[in-house]
Amino acid sequence: MYATPSVKTSPDMPVPDTMRAWVLGDPGELKLVDKPVPVPKRAEVLVRIDAVAICATDLDVIANGPPAMIQGGLPFNKNFTPGHEYMGTVAALGPGVDEYKIGQRITVEIHAGCGQCKRCREGMYTSCHNYGLNYGDVDKGHRANGFTTDGGFCEYQVNNINTLVAIPDAMSDEEATLVVTAGTAMYGLTELGGLVAGESVVVTGPGPIGLLGVAVAKALGAQPVILTGTRDNRLAIGRALGADHVINVRKEPDVVAAVKKLNGGKGVDYVLECAGAPNSVNDAVRMVNRGGKVCLAAFPHEETPVDIAHIVRNNIYLYGIRGEGKSATHRAEAFMSQKRFDATKIHTHTFALEDLPTALKYARERIGDAIKVVVKARHGKVQQVAAE
Ligand SMILES: [Zn+2]
Ligand SMILES: [Zn+2]
Repeated sequence: MYATPSVKTSPDMPVPDTMRAWVLGDPGELKLVDKPVPVPKRAEVLVRIDAVAICATDLDVIANGPPAMIQGGLPFNKNFTPGHEYMGTVAALGPGVDEYKIGQRITVEIHAGCGQCKRCREGMYTSCHNYGLNYGDVDKGHRANGFTTDGGFCEYQVNNINTLVAIPDAMSDEEATLVVTAGTAMYGLTELGGLVAGESVVVTGPGPIGLLGVAVAKALGAQPVILTGTRDNRLAIGRALGADHVINVRKEPDVVAAVKKLNGGKGVDYVLECAGAPNSVNDAVRMVNRGGKVCLAAFPHEETPVDIAHIVRNNIYLYGIRGEGKSATHRAEAFMSQKRFDATKIHTHTFALEDLPTALKYARERIGDAIKVVVKARHGKVQQVAAE
C-alpha cells in the first residue's frame, strides 16, 4: 500500500504502489513497464493522470532526444517517461501542501523553476538558470516534467503546486489538456505587452499554438486578427476560433502585401510567429508597422539570415518566448472556463494510454487531419467510483 510518512492520502482515493508507465529506450522506442508510483516532496502533490495531449515536442524528444535532458544528457535508456501536456486529479499531498485537496481536478503547466534564481524570481521560470540541475548531488528543485524529470505518459506523476491550475467540473479532460497550449500563446501576448484590445495581430502558422494564439488574441480584444498558413482545413478552424481574416500563403505568394491590404494598407501592431519557416522572421518584421512587435514562438531548425537593417530602421521589437511563463496558463484557463473560446476545436483524436504508439503515429503523420491527439488512462474501478 502506498503510504509514506508526511504524505497525506485519502481512503476515498487509494493509491497503488506501482503504475503502468511508458519509458523511452533507444531513439523512437517506447516500452510499457511497471514503475513505482512517485512520492511528492515539500510543496509537491501526486497527480493521478487522467488525460495527456501529444505535442510536436514529444515527437522530437522520442525520436531525437532534445530538448529533453535527463541527468545532464540525452534521455535514452534512462527509464525516462516523456509527455508533458497532461491533466488529472490530485491523489496525495506532500508536506506542507494546503492549497489543493485530494480529489480536486487540475491541469498542469510544464515548468517548475528552482524558485531561487534571478529569472524564477521575475516569474520567468521557463528560463530558470538552474534548468535540469536535479541529478547527482545537486537538487535545485527544478522540474520540467517530460523534459528533465519524468512526465505524463503514465498513471501518476509528481508536480510542484506552482505548476497546478484548478479547473471547473464543466471542463472536459480533453479540453483541460489544452490549457498549457493556450497558456503558451497567452505568454507570447503577455511578453508583447499584454492587453491588445483594438490592436491588430497577425498569427503565422496554424499549429496548435498558432490556432489558440488566434483565440487568445481575439479574447483579448484584438482587431483584426489575421491568420496565415498553408492548409485550408486548419485556416477554417482558425476562423472558427475567431480569426477575422485568413490567408493561404500557397494561393497568395506575397503574404506581406496581403496582410497590409487587409489592414488598411498598413502593417499590423503585433505578429505572433508560430510557423518557424526559414523566411518567417523576415516576413514577420515586414508585416508589422513601424514600432511594431514580433513574438517568436517557433523557429527553423537551421540558422537563417535576418534583415537586421529593416528591424533597426523601423524600431521593431523581437521577443523570443520559451514555454508558458508568468502564470499565463492561469489567465488562459480563465478564458477557457468562461467559454470565451472553444479550444476543443483543435482536439481531433483520443486513444487509450496503452495505445500510445498508435496515438503518436496519428500525431506524427497527421492521420485523419490530426491536430491534438489525446491519450487517456483507464484507472481501476475503485478509483473511478471514488472520483464520482
Ligand atoms: Zn508541448
Ligand atoms: Zn530558477
